[in-house]
Amino acid sequence: MTPTGRPSPAPGLEALVLPRIDHVDLVTVRLPFLAPFGTSVHVWTVKDAMLMRLESQGVTAWSECVSDPDPFYAYETNTTARHIISDFLLPLVEPGITLGELEGRFRRVRGHGMAKATVENALLILVANQRGIPLHELLGRPAKKIQSGLSIGLKDTHDELLRAVERAVAKGYHRVKMKVKKGQDLDWVRAVRDRFPELPLMVDANGDYSLSDTDRLRRLDEFNLMMVEQPLSYSDIIEHATLQREMNTAICLDESIHGLADAAAAISIGACRIINVKQGRVGGLLESMRIAHHAAGCGVGVWSGGMDETGIGRAVNIHLQTAEGFTLPGDTSETANYFDEDIVDQPVVLDAGGFIDIPKGPGIGARVMPERILKRTIAAERLR
Ligand SMILES: [Mg+2]
Repeated sequence: MTPTGRPSPAPGLEALVLPRIDHVDLVTVRLPFLAPFGTSVHVWTVKDAMLMRLESQGVTAWSECVSDPDPFYAYETNTTARHIISDFLLPLVEPGITLGELEGRFRRVRGHGMAKATVENALLILVANQRGIPLHELLGRPAKKIQSGLSIGLKDTHDELLRAVERAVAKGYHRVKMKVKKGQDLDWVRAVRDRFPELPLMVDANGDYSLSDTDRLRRLDEFNLMMVEQPLSYSDIIEHATLQREMNTAICLDESIHGLADAAAAISIGACRIINVKQGRVGGLLESMRIAHHAAGCGVGVWSGGMDETGIGRAVNIHLQTAEGFTLPGDTSETANYFDEDIVDQPVVLDAGGFIDIPKGPGIGARVMPERILKRTIAAERLR
């Protein structure tokens, strides 16, 4: 049962018995972004992705830690995740215990959802690979076409922004998100809205405003936005409820939500009408499904956020979106927006209707290409 009394959306997964793990490796790869990605908090130019590789009786599985090398989006970094995984989480992984029991052990470690998700996702992908079934099937969910959405970073000029939105519209993305920050907001949104009056459009402030900006934020109401994401502090829930009472535009929480308890609290006080579930930030796929299930029961929309992942994390997000409650287009976009060459064999592409197919094959579907990983490796170590 969830804290709110609804039955768990994943009882079969909680009962899943963990296999013996023969080897655990952490491999960090560096992939240059095709263009810098700017937000109100930082501009990223490369993706340093820490990957986990599990091996069990000849079957391997890869997962991706969604932390950055820096603590500018979240407090976790690749270095803290490595420390938490190596010193605290891995010693708790024993063959014969269930995934639900492992989650119970992990709860003793406070926070560090990205580190926890790396281990839990790797175990789920390993079991799917062992059974020869797609990850979504292991999650108990039927395949479906996944909606697409593009997140456009801060640009230097209106023209540059409009060109990026134009490209997204031409591609058929189901919605476009634009980053905003104090002073780079109303005029920029107006420029996009004037050019694209019907476009499903939203903005993300990554916590750049405070309640003293309420008058300015209320002016976003005139642009018929799907939502404004994380307008106030990354750690706040209560002031978002105050702001939501003052605004017509739906507030979506991202950074503030670290698990089901946060989501339930935020919903109960009206702090948001939509939640961005990043599976890494909330500790993995099971907790993501619990949040989406709870939100759906409360009439709150959910979508899957992105962390500019490589093809491994991107595929995990795609499989997650088959779960109940993921009704809104997420930040799942084409690989070609980010990298010239990914580390998996199937790049994410949109079909003519703007949808994304689940990669075909066992586990995440996409096949991890060892030679491409080798080419991009900047650190590697065997933990077990
Ligand atoms: Mg966000």
